[in-house]
Amino acid sequence: MTDSTSPFDLVVVGGGPAGTYTAWRAKTGEVAAGSPLPPDPAQRRILLLESSGRIGGRLDSIVAPGTEGLVAEFGGMGFTNGDTIFSALVRKVFNIPSHSFVVNQNLVYLRGVRLPASALAANPAALPYGLSDAERQIVQGRGPMALVAWAAERLIPGCTSFTTRRQWDEAMAGVTFDGLPLRDIGFWNFLLMNFSNEAFSLVHDSSGHYFEVANWNCAEALPWLFLEGSPYYTLDAGYDTLPQTLAEAYIAAGGKLALDATVRSVTAGPADAGLLVNGGPGQGVAARRVVLALPRRALQMIAPGSVVLNTPAMQQRIRSVTGQRVMKLFLTFAVPWWTQLNPPIVSGSSATDLPLGQCWYFTATNGGDSLLMAAYNDTLATTFWEGLAFGPRYPTQAPNPLPEWTALAPSQAMVAEVMRQLELLHGVPLPQPTGAAWRDWSSDPFGGAFHTWNVGVDVPAVEEAMLMPDPAVPLHICGDAYSSDQGWTEGAFATAERVVQRHLGIAAPGWH
Ligand SMILES: Cc1cc2nc3c(=O)[nH]c(=O)nc-3n(C[C@H](O)[C@H](O)[C@H](O)COP(=O)(O)OP(=O)(O)OC[C@H]3O[C@@H](n4cnc5c(N)ncnc54)[C@H](O)[C@@H]3O)c2cc1C
Repeated sequence: MTDSTSPFDLVVVGGGPAGTYTAWRAKTGEVAAGSPLPPDPAQRRILLLESSGRIGGRLDSIVAPGTEGLVAEFGGMGFTNGDTIFSALVRKVFNIPSHSFVVNQNLVYLRGVRLPASALAANPAALPYGLSDAERQIVQGRGPMALVAWAAERLIPGCTSFTTRRQWDEAMAGVTFDGLPLRDIGFWNFLLMNFSNEAFSLVHDSSGHYFEVANWNCAEALPWLFLEGSPYYTLDAGYDTLPQTLAEAYIAAGGKLALDATVRSVTAGPADAGLLVNGGPGQGVAARRVVLALPRRALQMIAPGSVVLNTPAMQQRIRSVTGQRVMKLFLTFAVPWWTQLNPPIVSGSSATDLPLGQCWYFTATNGGDSLLMAAYNDTLATTFWEGLAFGPRYPTQAPNPLPEWTALAPSQAMVAEVMRQLELLHGVPLPQPTGAAWRDWSSDPFGGAFHTWNVGVDVPAVEEAMLMPDPAVPLHICGDAYSSDQGWTEGAFATAERVVQRHLGIAAPGWH
């Protein structure tokens, strides 16, 4: 990795969506006047460094053993038409095969009561929650999320029909709740000031996830929740094929990539280069400009000893988001037993207040070996599974498991407990799985699957400052963690595009 001859024009750190997008755009885009990059793409010396052995970051797609190509998505799995950069890359630039996928809820199992998910809206009186008459009326015909919509509409009439972030920002300007601007109120606090704890528990439990209604910045949580579009699409060969396609296009254009190259710090460079990027297999490289396409924990790991990142102001900005724990555990079965339930389940999800959270069904078209995302949970529930992570691994019996799958084998104790909770959720005895794999995104260098803005943070100011924290140092930060689209790959692309246009002098792309 050492290159003593001349500094790179640009070093990008992080081979997730934000890093691969930045590297590809910087290598192939047309420069505008004043760009720090050479006008001729062939002359641009760009290096992408990734600490792991693979491209993709928090997108990680593995074909499940024994199945006819069913893909287990351990990280991100879906996009909507509202994800404009993602959709354009898939449909206009690279023509990556994609398909829509069903996100309907089938069953819920709450406080020991099993119900079809349709009962959540159809019969609120049957729900094992002590809702007031008024709360029951809100849920009637619409489901538990109508409670959140009701609270939002009380604050900003018409807001749940907004289709753009701009509409939200204009409507929220000057709005206060309990005498405070929305950014200074936690979302959980806001909800409990509007309805009962029983109603809040119903909202939280029936989704199987907690982080969405956790105590994050109310001014971000509201638009985030209500701007989520539909329908959902995914990529046929796996969600991580998009960053991998970006990396391939970047390399084909002459860009350089080093895998297994962990950056330890970024320090002041020699006179002809702004910065030194330290770490990886060599001694490090000199760079005129550096983009760190990294989430909070990864930034904190390289901050000691790094320029800009080690200043008190920057430490505070880095801490302005919280990494939310999430785990996914997949099981394979010789037959899709869920299609034999009454009524049968083919696709979509079910949810419970048990620690497994949500499960999702992926049925083989030939009715053979199929895939179940058997547990998908967050925050406190994730720590439940951490406590069962030790002991002998669950063996995958399905033929020809990929090494990536086998490397993620959970403990036998974990699989036994998931099966016990699946039987409670579905109300029938279940066959033994033929394989298992799991991933908890709280480990280094991710520190969580999603990030949420903390209460009290001036988000537009921090989001902007991260793109170039110090005007005197050619160092930039992008990625979904510090975006207004957290938890979505679109947030990674949007912040990367801002860095590319504003600070690398690359013209806006014709396809977007
Ligand atoms: C469980 C889960 C579900 C999700 N669901 C969806 C979804 O349905 N749809 C959607 O669009 N998005 C979803 N997401 C979010 C999506 O994965 C992220 O938005 C996206 O991966 C962010 O990209 P990034 O480049 O900002 O960061 P990352 O993907 O985290 O990439 C950062 C990269 O930097 C590397 N790195 C870290 N430290 C160093 C270092 N010191 N040196 C070199 N390299 C380093 C990492 O190995 C990694 O490859 C989900 C994520 C998870 C985990």
